[in-house]
Amino acid sequence: MVDVAADPSHPRYTSLLMRHRLEEAAAKGMLAGSAMIAHGRGEAFDYLLGERTVPAAALATRQALALLLAAERPVLSVNGNVAALAADEMLRLGAALNCPLEVNIFYRTPERMAAILGHLEARKAALGLSVDVLGHAPDATIPGLKGPRANCHRDGILNSDAILVPLEDGDRCEALVAMGKHVLVIDLNPLSRSALQATVTMVDELSRVLNNMLAMLNGGDPPSVDPAYDHQAVLDEVVQTVVNGFSAQ
Ligand code: ATP
Repeated sequence: MVDVAADPSHPRYTSLLMRHRLEEAAAKGMLAGSAMIAHGRGEAFDYLLGERTVPAAALATRQALALLLAAERPVLSVNGNVAALAADEMLRLGAALNCPLEVNIFYRTPERMAAILGHLEARKAALGLSVDVLGHAPDATIPGLKGPRANCHRDGILNSDAILVPLEDGDRCEALVAMGKHVLVIDLNPLSRSALQATVTMVDELSRVLNNMLAMLNGGDPPSVDPAYDHQAVLDEVVQTVVNGFSAQ
């Protein structure tokens, strides 16, 4: 069988590569049973956006990075899909911002936590980066959530003032917002509960967002917080882009 995920000339290379990463992560026990469904929904929305960073998403990404840079205790939340799709970019962003990553998953089992933490530690060593990866020893809970999915680190998520939450579910997003944090969501679905409730929502594909942030940091172009930033207006603009058709832009 031809491994199309290894052929960069294939027209669907990036998409196939991401699917391949998910397959590998599933085999390592990193993913929940619903992981492929969440990814498929993201892919569908990405088609509607033209598989590119639309201007409203670029604006949201600048504002989210500015809030992370201005925060006293920023943290980057990682779930199974995020670790599978963009472990390197998340680790690079944590190192560049000098802030921890925290593994925080919806269906928390010791086996899945160990698989995700093991993958991140292996990638961190391969990249030679210095960045804290939390999640191994939760000592606090997120108020308003029940069960193991509420578990978190006091020095990570609990006491953070700005949190990047890629591909988050609506309940946890709502609980984090209720704690008074700046909640910075990456979600290709502009209509999800997370997208609607966040402080800033980047309606864009995860690895594109992270690479855009890294380019801003590495290019010496750190953004400043825009006090007039309008979350709802930015979301509305993304929805309009989809409704109008991306070729009309
Ligand atoms: P909500 O509760 O917020 O309404 P949900 O809990 O139903 O949404 P999930 O099933 O947790 O949402 O799915 C996570 C979201 O992540 C989906 O809305 C999907 O569009 C989005 N998503 C999946 N893959 C990616 C990706 N690579 N980049 C950005 N977003 C993605």
